[in-house]
Amino acid sequence: MSEISKTNWLKGTSGTIILGLITSFIYDFVKEKPILSTISSIFKSIWNFIYQILDTELKIWWILLVVIVIKIFQKVSKEYSKSKKPSLPDNLKNYVKDDFTNWNWKWEWNWDGDKNKWVIKSLWPYCKKCDIKLLIKSSVYDSAMECPKCKTRFESIHRETDDYDGVKAVIYDNVEKNRM
Ligand SMILES: [Zn+2]
Repeated sequence: MSEISKTNWLKGTSGTIILGLITSFIYDFVKEKPILSTISSIFKSIWNFIYQILDTELKIWWILLVVIVIKIFQKVSKEYSKSKKPSLPDNLKNYVKDDFTNWNWKWEWNWDGDKNKWVIKSLWPYCKKCDIKLLIKSSVYDSAMECPKCKTRFESIHRETDDYDGVKAVIYDNVEKNRM
């Protein structure tokens, strides 16, 4: 054995011995201290509990039962929110299209139970000339709106062409100020 490997061997062995000593010291220490052993037994029982849950055989009918309960709950809550939905006021009923920017815009009103108000749904731009739904042409570099009939086209660089939030804000403002 060379000098270097002898030193390495010595280092390895002494390391193992020291580690063993420390471990048995901790073990004895824990055994003597009732608080520490109580903590360790608490951890053990928590671990056993988790292990038992994980180890339980999962039965198909349990899963089915859970799925059925969730479905029933969803159905009931949907019915409940439906029953709370107010009827659409006349001013909103008729205000489902307007002329902004380069396009006409059409939308629907949808009751939002969380916000407790009517919100705009399915907002879409239409060609002013052809009254047809526009196509959204998007690529990595740009997006544009184009009429499939007359081929009128606006790039998104004209912010107003694809600024849905802006259009929505104008619609809400019109409703608020009764300018429909
Ligand atoms: Zn057109």
